[in-house]
Amino acid sequence: MHSIISLLLTAAVAVPGVPDKGRSEPVADPVYPAYGNPAIDVLHYGLRLDWKPSRRLLTGTALLTVRAVKKIDKITLDFGRALRVDEVTVAGTRVVARHPGDDLVIPLRSPLEADARVRVVVRYHGVPEPARTRQYRSDMKRLGFRSAADGSAWALQEPYGAFTWFPVNDQPSDEALYDVAIKVPRGWAAVAHGRFAGRKGNTYHWRSTEPVASYVTLFTADRYRHFAAKGPRGIPITYWLNKRDQTENLPVVRQTPGILRWLEKRLGPYPFSSAGVVVTSDSGMETQQMVTLAPSFLRPEVVAHEMAHQWFGNAVTPRTWRDLWLNEGFAEYIEWQWAADHTAETLEDYLTEAREIDGRLRRESGPPGRYTPGRFGAGNVYIGPALMLHEIRKRLGDERFFATLRAWVQEHRGTTQDRASFVTWLNARTGEDFTALVDQWLDSPTTPATT
Ligand SMILES: [Zn+2]
Repeated sequence: MHSIISLLLTAAVAVPGVPDKGRSEPVADPVYPAYGNPAIDVLHYGLRLDWKPSRRLLTGTALLTVRAVKKIDKITLDFGRALRVDEVTVAGTRVVARHPGDDLVIPLRSPLEADARVRVVVRYHGVPEPARTRQYRSDMKRLGFRSAADGSAWALQEPYGAFTWFPVNDQPSDEALYDVAIKVPRGWAAVAHGRFAGRKGNTYHWRSTEPVASYVTLFTADRYRHFAAKGPRGIPITYWLNKRDQTENLPVVRQTPGILRWLEKRLGPYPFSSAGVVVTSDSGMETQQMVTLAPSFLRPEVVAHEMAHQWFGNAVTPRTWRDLWLNEGFAEYIEWQWAADHTAETLEDYLTEAREIDGRLRRESGPPGRYTPGRFGAGNVYIGPALMLHEIRKRLGDERFFATLRAWVQEHRGTTQDRASFVTWLNARTGEDFTALVDQWLDSPTTPATT
């Protein structure tokens, strides 16, 4: 039951879309417990941002609709130390928040009962900086917000780092809906996750009506040109490229509709209402509904990999970073199959190479299901789990295997999952027992024998 106060607070909440679709069951992350707060569930983020490239100044207003998971007397969010808080209100009343390190601690005048909601507004400004944590990914130089000498900016963050540009519950088990508006100077454009909802003046609007985990949110600002296309079933697609990247990269991103058609045949309907690619200076990331790729990553098989993540990772999200293999094993395996269908390489070529390097990757970074936290996103979480999927395929046969992948996504889209829920579901669905096979491939320090 709601208390009267929480009912009033709930009534005071007016956010676009259906906030309950942003409802999650957050848990503490066992791999990176310093980020995220399992006591709260953010249902919706409304971000109004202004980027001034000449001064690298970000000014923002974040409207968060927060649900208490249990009774709480404060709301603690992740929020970068480089940003200055100008004002915080809770249910319309100004409060004095503390901002130690990368935390924002917002006091509540009276405790919030479990399941009650409250609207929190944070106004802030500053010159954003990437996360200070040591960066160990080879494909992403720094985590979070970055800008270049010309004032172009981009923010990519996995496993965490969204806190470098907005106050956030920065862990994968708390997904939320988003409305993002970014103002940029004339001649510039701003791209975020979600569906492009149009431009008013020089403010770019982006809307996510399906749950988004913070690590697949996106901020980019550059002198982009915008190209429109149509995907399977008329899905609107947009491409955003800087003039200097168009000659070489536009022909590759224009392959997206064909890649999506191929993916739909194997994985079932594309799970979102729009798709896109934005070309940034650094990295490749499956940011939701708007894949981010640097020119150095722009190959069709990489587009296929990041698009496969829209099914595996974005529609169905790992509950904690322990199960990163639920993303990368599937995207990697689908990428191999795409390449086998479109290039001179065969699936067997990929499998042979993978078997040759899997043992070394396990030695360097740990088994894929129990990787070393300081080796996030290393090859071990891609290769071994992809080989495991191939073993499952051999037992099920092609038709049942792809039908199983389709059903996994269709039955779990909009949720977070883990190894236990995957294995329980897989066994029930197929009538076979894959428990030992999955545990062995995810936990063994050496490459399991193949059948
Ligand atoms: Zn991936």
